[in-house]
Formats: sequence, structure tokens, C-alpha cells
Amino acid sequence: MKRYDYLVVGSGLFGAVFAHEALSAGKRCLVIDKRSHRGGNIYCEEKAGIRIHAYGAHIFHTDDKAVWDYVNRFAEFNRYTNSPMACYEGKLYNLPFNMNTFYQLWGVRTPAEAQAKIAEERGAYEHIARPANLEEQALKLCGRDIYTRLIKGYTEKQWGRPATELPAFIIRRLPFRFVFDNNYFNDAYQGIPKGGYNRLIDALLEGTEVRLDTDYFRHRNELEALADKILFTGCIDEFFDYRFGHLDYRSLRFEHRHLDVENFQGNAVVNYTASDVPYTRIIEHKHFEYGTQPTTVITYEYPENYLPGKGPYYPVNDTHNNGIYRQYAEWAERQERILFGGRLARYTYADMDDTVAAALALCRKQWS
Ligand code: FAD
Ligand code: UDP
Repeated sequence: MKRYDYLVVGSGLFGAVFAHEALSAGKRCLVIDKRSHRGGNIYCEEKAGIRIHAYGAHIFHTDDKAVWDYVNRFAEFNRYTNSPMACYEGKLYNLPFNMNTFYQLWGVRTPAEAQAKIAEERGAYEHIARPANLEEQALKLCGRDIYTRLIKGYTEKQWGRPATELPAFIIRRLPFRFVFDNNYFNDAYQGIPKGGYNRLIDALLEGTEVRLDTDYFRHRNELEALADKILFTGCIDEFFDYRFGHLDYRSLRFEHRHLDVENFQGNAVVNYTASDVPYTRIIEHKHFEYGTQPTTVITYEYPENYLPGKGPYYPVNDTHNNGIYRQYAEWAERQERILFGGRLARYTYADMDDTVAAALALCRKQWS
């Protein structure tokens, strides 16, 4: 008999939910992570009494009551509502696109005025029946003015390629509404765990053995010998030694600064939407938790090309990469001992709620 039922590669949210459910089902799990901390990209570190979202702003939001109830079993959430600002050529705009934004853009005061203005803006793009790329989708959705001031620069920096070469679905994520409501998300439930995301991860992993600074690929044979089955949550192309080619990812560089001011920008998230500003956003972490500390910590997010050794933060789900991924996914189906899950192994732009739901679905498949 092997020492463990499961070797879980990756202590991110997917691996942690899986490990918790495995333990509850009476299974023995070993969780490993190549990083020196648990939690994957939702990990927080502390500086000057402020919790820093070490890998970019993370706001939990969901419409799925079962997922919300599940995470609330492990951590209490505050009532944080994400309402980012956008800065373009020195002027500030509310996001997502709503009546406040339309007023700031064009001085329109009523929904009827705003709708008329947007209809005029969209007019030139009515002929686009099925948007073939992000630029067409954005123009069809909101016209040239919003596209130029709030979308094009941000998007091209974020993804490192022209918007005409990006899939339309990325921009469908942005809500668009005719009320004065700056809540970025439409979901019924939203918040940040009180005390940070580490509390959630620690509670999920309570009672499970976790080995950090342990890269699966460095110790593959000895680790595989320890467990009957493996759950892999890292990059799927790396797992199969790139046999169908490399998948593209987009990376980020985070520049954290501790400032001797109480309140730097008055909001947790300010996006910089012009192409001549090299970063996409500045995060002021204390505002996620209504912090009253005397100083502040901010983070500049600089999008970067992905190279081995950097963080593979975003999958690039265009036709080319999805085609490669499908070959890996088919190959993965044939692996009897190995399960694949999470944002990297599924090559998907999954939010935290999707990640929890997918992990729970995999658990149901394993044990019911
Ligand atoms: P990860 O967190 O990537 O965990 C995978 C783990 O596997 C990592 O710890 C990694 O070190 C480990 N690993 C990989 N390879 C190996 C190996 N060979 N050996 C050992 N360990 C390995 N979601 C939201 O809901 N709201 C948000 O506001 C939000 N903002 C985001 C902002 C950014 C910049 C990013 C990148 C993502 C954001 N997300 C957000 C998505 C969220 O981060 C994911 O849904 C979630 O963290 C995915 O968890 P995971 O376990 O699948 O992956
Ligand atoms: N986006 C934009 N302007 C903004 C914010 C977002 O054009 O000020 C676009 C951009 O293409 C981005 C997409 O909307 O990739 C999704 O944004 P979201 O904030 O959901 O991205 P995430 O938090 O996942 O990086």
C-alpha cells in the first residue's frame, strides 16, 4: 500500500479545496508546492500591518450560493465591493461602464441621454454581426470613444498584442449598465476574507501534510511512488513535456512600494488605460480591508511576456492556443492515475468561484 491516496501538486485554491474534501472522505493526501508558501496566486504577505495581495488584486465574487456558503465555512468575509477607477490622460472615470462613467465622458445625465449617445457611438459598427476579435466586440458594444479612452490601451498592454488579434470573449467580462452603480461585478455575493486569503487556505489545509519548496518535476519519481493517484494543478504543457508545443501565458511584474502616507489613491484599484503608461493598474491594498494604518503599501502591475521562471498568470485563450490545449486535454483523459485541475492544468481564465466549483465537482466524481 502506498503512503498516500493522493499526491496534490499545487497548494493553490484548487489543490487546497481538493485536499480538504479528500481528508473529509477519509483519504490521505500529501500536498506539495514549488513556492515557499501556500495558496498559489491568492497568497497574501504582510507589510506594515497591511495584507498585500502578493500576486495581484483578488476579490471573491460569485452568484453561486453553494460556493459562497462553502468558502464562508472556512473564513468570514467582509462586505468589500469592487469599484475600480480608470485614469486616462489625467482624468478619472468610474468603472464598470455605468451612468457615472457616461456623465464623466459626455456630461449626459439621464439613462435616455446616455442610451442615445451610445446608440450614436455604436452606429458606425452596426454592420458587425459576429465580432471576430476584441476590437470589433468593443466597438460594437460601446463605440469608438469608450474604446479609445478606457479599453484599447489597457487591453493591448495587458495582453501584449493588438486588440484585433485578441478573442472577443475577454471584453464580454465587463458589465455595461444604465444606472449609477460602480459595483464592478453583477454577482450576488462579494467580499474579501477577514484576515486575508491565507486564513481560507490555512483552514482548508488544516490536518493535511504540506511540503513547500518542492518542485514535482525535480522529484517526480520519488513523489509518484508515494501515492496511488496524483492531482496536478500546474501547467499542463510542462506536465507532458511540451509534446504538443508550448502554450502561451501572459505574465505580470509586481512592484510593491511602502509609502509614508496614510491614503495614496483613495481606492483599492485604479486602472491606467493609456498605452503610454507602462503599468495597467495600481493597487492600494489597505482599502480591501478598510485599513486604518498610518502608512500604505501600493503595487504597480506591469504586464510582461511569459518566459520560464516567471509567473504564468493568464492563459491566452485564442484559437491557436486553445487548439494546442485540446490536444493536451485529450491526452490527459487517457491518464488513469492522474487528475488535472485548476487554472493552469485546465488552461482556463477561471475566477476563484469557478475554481472552487470545479474542485468540488472533481471531488464528487472521485468519491460519490
Ligand atoms: P494557482 O493559484 O496558480 O495554484 C497553482 C499552484 O501550483 C501554485 O502555488 C504553483 O506554485 C503550484 N505548482 C505549479 N507547478 C508546480 C510544480 N511543478 N511543482 C509543485 N507545485 C507547482 N479570481 C477572482 O475570483 N477574483 C479576482 O479578483 C481575481 N484576480 C486575479 C488576478 C490575477 C493577477 C490572477 C493571475 C488571477 C486572478 N484571479 C481572480 C483568479 C484566481 O487567482 C484563480 O481562480 C485561483 O487562484 C486559481 O487557483 P489554482 O489553484 O487553480 O491555481
Ligand atoms: N479592461 C479594459 N479596461 C479596464 C479594465 C479591463 O479594457 O479598465 C479589459 C481588458 O481587456 C481586460 C478585460 O477587460 O483584460 C477583463 O478585465 P478584468 O478586470 O475582468 O480582468 P482581470 O481582473 O481578470 O485581470
